[in-house]
Amino acid sequence: MAIQFYNTLTRKKEEFTPITPGEVKMYSCGPTVYNYAHIGNLRAYVFTDILRKSLKYNGYKVTQIMNITDIGHLSSDADSGDDKMTKGLIREGKELNLKNMRELAEFYTEKFKDDLKSLNIELPDGMYFASDYVQEDIDLIKKLEDKNFTYKTSDGIYFDTAKMPDYGILWGGKRIHDEKETRIEKNIEKKNPEDFALWKFNDQLGFPSSWGMGFPGWHIECSAMGIKFLGEQFDIHTGGIEHIDVHHTNEIAQSECATGKKPFVRYWMHNEWILFGNKKIAKADGTFLKSSDLKEKNINPIAYRFFLLMANYGSKMNFNWEALEGAETALNRLYRLYNDLGNTIGSVDKDYQERFKNFISDDLDTPKALALLWDLIKDENVPKADKKATILDFDKVLGLNFEHQSEIIKNEIIPKEIQKLAEERKEARKNKDYKKSDELRNEISKLGYEIKDSSDGYKINKI
Ligand code: AMP
Ligand code: ZN
Repeated sequence: MAIQFYNTLTRKKEEFTPITPGEVKMYSCGPTVYNYAHIGNLRAYVFTDILRKSLKYNGYKVTQIMNITDIGHLSSDADSGDDKMTKGLIREGKELNLKNMRELAEFYTEKFKDDLKSLNIELPDGMYFASDYVQEDIDLIKKLEDKNFTYKTSDGIYFDTAKMPDYGILWGGKRIHDEKETRIEKNIEKKNPEDFALWKFNDQLGFPSSWGMGFPGWHIECSAMGIKFLGEQFDIHTGGIEHIDVHHTNEIAQSECATGKKPFVRYWMHNEWILFGNKKIAKADGTFLKSSDLKEKNINPIAYRFFLLMANYGSKMNFNWEALEGAETALNRLYRLYNDLGNTIGSVDKDYQERFKNFISDDLDTPKALALLWDLIKDENVPKADKKATILDFDKVLGLNFEHQSEIIKNEIIPKEIQKLAEERKEARKNKDYKKSDELRNEISKLGYEIKDSSDGYKINKI
């Protein structure tokens, strides 16, 4: 089956064919690094990881680029409100200057990379700080200026959307609709409500340019870096659904008007949100769930990955702790069943592989791929060694870390019943009741576990 993706640009599922046969170039909108990533952000990157891994599984060479937004992103995506990085500096009591801004960015970028690794997300081939490519932004804005797409107001250089007949193609092409008009904060100097800033003036802090000191707009950063690293036209662009109306619409406008080439990107793919208490999890909320909250509750981050794969990336998902714990229990069960398959790795079952490929190629249908994994594990007609090989093959895409995690589980997950007996034995030893202690040791061993005493307690292992 050919790969099919839902393309926001055409609003339908389409067969995927890259510009260069056998190679895929994709750009993923990265985080704004003024705070830790939250678990909603991490959905965006589990999605791109599955996308990238499934393309590789289908034999493509993939180049994935991600921006790290460390300048220019205002609290409203539509050029109003405070600068998010400045807010971060103020929150941390740091002086406002570019050096501190960069340090803040580097700190949260490292934390972000740790989060990605903990979820078994492969790092993109290139992750670039927007502040290192301001000249590229300026060059792109100059191109737009030369072609008469820009105008100046008291606070910046703006893109004149009326000059682009098909502006807004990503959200249906209807120009200036009422809902948008009321949502976008009024800026009376703008010629059209959708016009957006390419460069924002700032006398106190910023980068020099022929228009005056300031910052590039957030949208131009992604256009400039996309073009620099992937070319004037490339295959896939990803991001959360809230980017459709403004950020990605404006990326298309700037890029296509500057280069004269259409389409800037062939397939636009968007992940839906993670909700908590029916509300989008957002950094701006201040209190939000991060991967460290999972660790605090002793939940394996891979269980969160597994939880995400239970829904399609394009569906909304409600997060709650019970559901996550349920996912962790199911995942541990899978690990145990995998462990019970023995040590020999046989050959991949071709029939299961074909079915898996079909599901994953059908707009990344991970729920069906997981259901197939359960079917496989229960299928008595597939020899154990071949099952093991097939699970490892599926895991190239699912990234549930069967090879390593199941080893950890083998050593760490001790049934509650055994833990209870071990605690009773500890109590008996404390009371110097060695007869009872030995009886309990025997009972534990009959159930398949051995207990070893140490200076700071005991350790239980599966025999
Ligand atoms: P940010 O760091 O806020 O610029 O966001 C980074 C990525 O996370 C973007 O692609 C967002 O669309 C995505 N994102 C933000 N909040 C959520 C959420 N609650 N659920 C899913 N994705 C989100
Ligand atoms: Zn972007």
